[in-house]
Amino acid sequence: MRRRTFLELALSAPALPALAAPRRDIASGASLGRVVVVGAGFGGATAAKYLRQVSGGRIEVILVDQRADFISCPVSNRVLGGQRTLAQLTFGYDALARHHGVKRMTGRVTAIDADKSRIVVNGKPLPYDRLIVAPGIDFMYDAWPALAGAQETIPHAWKAGPQTRLLQQQLLNMPDGGVFTIAVPLLPYRCPPAPYERACQAAFYLKTHKPRSKVVVLDANPVITSKRPLFERAWRELYPGMIEYVPGSEVQHVDVATRTVKTAFDTIASDVLNIIPPQRVGRLAQAAGLANVDGRWCEVDFLAYASTVLPRVHVIGDAIDAGLPKSAHMANAQAKVCAQAIHALMQGQAPAPAPAFANTCYSFVDDRQAMHISTLYHYDAAKKSMQAQGESFLSAQHAASEGLEADAWARQIWADALT
Ligand SMILES: Cc1cc2nc3c(=O)[nH]c(=O)nc-3n(C[C@H](O)[C@H](O)[C@H](O)COP(=O)(O)OP(=O)(O)OC[C@H]3O[C@@H](n4cnc5c(N)ncnc54)[C@H](O)[C@@H]3O)c2cc1C
Repeated sequence: MRRRTFLELALSAPALPALAAPRRDIASGASLGRVVVVGAGFGGATAAKYLRQVSGGRIEVILVDQRADFISCPVSNRVLGGQRTLAQLTFGYDALARHHGVKRMTGRVTAIDADKSRIVVNGKPLPYDRLIVAPGIDFMYDAWPALAGAQETIPHAWKAGPQTRLLQQQLLNMPDGGVFTIAVPLLPYRCPPAPYERACQAAFYLKTHKPRSKVVVLDANPVITSKRPLFERAWRELYPGMIEYVPGSEVQHVDVATRTVKTAFDTIASDVLNIIPPQRVGRLAQAAGLANVDGRWCEVDFLAYASTVLPRVHVIGDAIDAGLPKSAHMANAQAKVCAQAIHALMQGQAPAPAPAFANTCYSFVDDRQAMHISTLYHYDAAKKSMQAQGESFLSAQHAASEGLEADAWARQIWADALT
């Protein structure tokens, strides 16, 4: 697999170094031009695949990411619970090249030059006709600068990878009777229910192995931000007396050495401290001036996910200001709308007028049982935004059958984005 990925990268590379402007032929059926996609996460990888599909291969697609492999945040909380390993959540990109002719480049994109329609990757310019920016999130350490340099001691584990493993190791090393604290930032942040799912997974492990321990959830928000009645019930029934939920508890001060946090009301020392920092769009988008909403998120139109700042630049996924949950399911759905719109625009046509999609999000509460929320969204032409359509569907309660559905959901979205 790795050998193949390497070979395909090596094979696709010669097409790139020339870095000439994309070739466009006039004859019908010929190339419509080149789209470069920055960020090969849920949004970017899906967009790359669907651009190739919808255009019948007439759009050249180059997918750039600083990481060689894809590591899934969804399901990563289960690494803490002990049901999954990080290796099971890590996938190569080779199928996108093999099945769809997506060209892959591994490298860090450091600049977007919209005037010249090119990005800078690995120090070299790469021209595009249209650009999709899907860099996910970065963390804001402004309130606690000490935390930025203390990731070995206080990991966020909010981008699946080495920090996920580190947090798991800290949990394994925790003494019985110890305290595992999770600090939740104010909305908007990546995956609203995931901190509470993490509390369940830590509690599941501790209940089984270190039953005198406690999980403290310090929530900057006034209430649980997603699936509230379901989490409250799961905590009551599965972990009585084990999870302490403290709403309205924004972290005000952090002492790294003692893993102690202060909120307006409490001072809590922990054996494991998992602070999930406030978030904003990835640094590249900020540097390019795309983050025009509070300096944190990118404004787009919802018909083509076109940036309202830079021409022929589209933004999808967690990076955008949407009033939509920041989830893999949303990034995947937005990517398809964006791919279809770009295909239309590159043929001189208008994007489809009324996109609609759903978001479904599962949370595991122990090793087998899960629950979900599902919401429909449609484009409101008057407000020019995506609006929830009716009430969300919420599971009646956690159940093992939903655990099976959750596993199927994960397998499906990985396959949809990556193969
Ligand atoms: C613990 C946890 C659990 C979650 N569970 C779920 C779930 O159950 N369901 C769900 O729908 N969502 C879930 N999510 C949310 C989901 O992971 C995100 O919403 C999703 O990954 C967003 O996709 P994206 O494409 O915007 O960003 P990402 O998937 O983060 O991809 C961004 C990519 O851009 C690359 N990149 C960034 N900057 C550069 C640069 N300058 N140069 C090159 N590459 C760059 C990064 O390396 C990365 O690969 C969860 C998140 C967490 C943290």
